[in-house]
Amino acid sequence: MNLEFFDKQLKIADFSEDFQEYLLNSKSLVIGAGGIGCPLIIYLSSSGFGDITIFDGDKIEASNLQRQFMYSEKDCGEFKAMIMQEKVSQQYPHIKITSYCENLYEKKLYEIINDFDFIFDATDNFESRYFINDICSEFKKPLISGAADAMKGIVTYLNFHNDAPCYECIFPRKASLDEQPCDNNGVTPSVLGIVGTMMVSAALKLSFDKNVDCVMTRIDAKTLIVSQSNIKKDICCNICGDK
Ligand SMILES: [Zn+2]
Repeated sequence: MNLEFFDKQLKIADFSEDFQEYLLNSKSLVIGAGGIGCPLIIYLSSSGFGDITIFDGDKIEASNLQRQFMYSEKDCGEFKAMIMQEKVSQQYPHIKITSYCENLYEKKLYEIINDFDFIFDATDNFESRYFINDICSEFKKPLISGAADAMKGIVTYLNFHNDAPCYECIFPRKASLDEQPCDNNGVTPSVLGIVGTMMVSAALKLSFDKNVDCVMTRIDAKTLIVSQSNIKKDICCNICGDK
């Protein structure tokens, strides 16, 4: 395609036409088209991640509209994934968008994971987070995970190289599965925006350097404090530890 659309981005030293082509040819799987999925998918598209597949089985409700800015009142009752595909296709016709109006379950992810270069976890429940992690760990697929609650957010990127950790190393599931999904709590839209756009930046970072150390970033949108931790493999981890 004509890369003129990306002219401003291509002025950045880290970008080149070859790198932009690499992004355009990459395949991204986005699981969840809700509060984090909206900024995530829009900024993936505008950055030129050229082939995006979305899974979300939810329909749009009036209570979503404040933070899920891709949807408007007339979309209520429609599937989020379908409306997202329609709107992104209009705005960014150079991006191939595929939508599935269903939740992505474990068996399906096993079947399709090898088709993708990046997996984005924008779900709102721990069950999904863990099976997504387990399968990405098994197939060594880069996983970029985002979560938000109230005014706080977390973005984690995992590449599963050599001694790199997995999600379970950081958040052992026994402790997390009892927690409420974020959907049941309050959340402020700005933190969803930060998390979604930071996930895009994480994917760019992994594209610049596939061996980059895995990092967890915590964002506090109330104090504006952002902190980072290098995360390490837990040798006792049930998923990726020494068996
Ligand atoms: Zn692990």
